[in-house]
Amino acid sequence: MPSTRTLATNLLPLGHGLRLRDVSIGPDQIVATLEATAPRGTCPRCGTWSEAVHSRYQRTIADLPWGGQAVRLHLRVRKFYCRQPACTRRVFTERLPRVVAPYARRTARLESVLSLLAFALGGEPGARIVQRLGMTASPATLLRLVRRVTILEQPAPRVLGVDDWAFRKGHRYGTILVDLEHHRIVDVLPARSAEPVVAWLEAHPGVEVVSRDRAPAYAEAARKGAPQAVQVADRWHVIQNLVEALERCLLRFRPALKAAAGIGDSLVGPLPSPSEADLVPWQRRAEAASQQKHASKVERYQQMRTLRDAGFTVLDIAQLVGATRPTVYRYLALGGPPERQRPRRSKHRVLAPYEPYLVQRWAEGCRNRSRLFREIRLLGYQHSARTVSLFLKRLDNEPQPASTAA
Ligand SMILES: [Zn+2]
Repeated sequence: MPSTRTLATNLLPLGHGLRLRDVSIGPDQIVATLEATAPRGTCPRCGTWSEAVHSRYQRTIADLPWGGQAVRLHLRVRKFYCRQPACTRRVFTERLPRVVAPYARRTARLESVLSLLAFALGGEPGARIVQRLGMTASPATLLRLVRRVTILEQPAPRVLGVDDWAFRKGHRYGTILVDLEHHRIVDVLPARSAEPVVAWLEAHPGVEVVSRDRAPAYAEAARKGAPQAVQVADRWHVIQNLVEALERCLLRFRPALKAAAGIGDSLVGPLPSPSEADLVPWQRRAEAASQQKHASKVERYQQMRTLRDAGFTVLDIAQLVGATRPTVYRYLALGGPPERQRPRRSKHRVLAPYEPYLVQRWAEGCRNRSRLFREIRLLGYQHSARTVSLFLKRLDNEPQPASTAA
């Protein structure tokens, strides 16, 4: 169980040269009176310390709320004389750099919380939440805190990626600059034209390689803004362009490709099934189509794997192979190439045991459908005449091999 003293030390910015004198809890706020304890002050002008107290005064500043209650600190601080003869400052006020900035109305820790809220929520919504939490800050104050944060100026990256970037897709585009060695966004520019990129490159000399898309705008920007840099087309755009070119090219040979991949009697790959000999030609075609489909699935899977190994994201892969993202996820989750699904013949499965018999009778020249139906009923077939009829119709459409014609 912490003592009251420890509790106070945690709740108030004590331990930074401040001692608690008094706490008063009012209806809308808590007021803590704190007193500076340092034996002397240091002149901010010349850095000389002084023990000569000129006067005492009180600063009122806001601190973090307690349980939703606003907290005010009455800071009792001093003014000191500077005794350094050469110093132009005669009197200086006591500084508490770890608690509050000179002239500030809020403690440093309160400002840092407000600044976080401002970054997360912005001005107006931030101000509403701030009030609910027991703090006070106008929307303008919150925005000022955001603007006051200094972003450390980084040296220009050695390898810079330049690409267009959507502030709002389909509406407003800008340019994103990425340090490709450290995988860090360096800047976002308001347009996707050459000018802002030129200005940025001129202000940030030292870029050795510019990686860009293949459109002329960024090429020109790099040539003007960083003439010393080597320009490269990035991998994503090279592959994208290659894919597009291939598609355009292959599209022209579409009829020939279709014929080559034809599902006719030319089968793709070895036929694995031992029962293949039993298949009638239309079943053989279905089998070939299924194999064809499977081959293209395997190829797709391998493309995705290769791209994945090359470091592409799922989104990139989806765009490159022309699949949806869920499909890419499903393929990549597979341990190996997808397995082939057998052609669906479930509808005819009930007939399968009788098919060789029907084929044989058909080859013998029997075309009487109801008779064939009755014959296989005697052999044990218990299903519809329609199934038999469909099968016979397909047989009828097959060209008859001369050798078996009766
Ligand atoms: Zn001084």
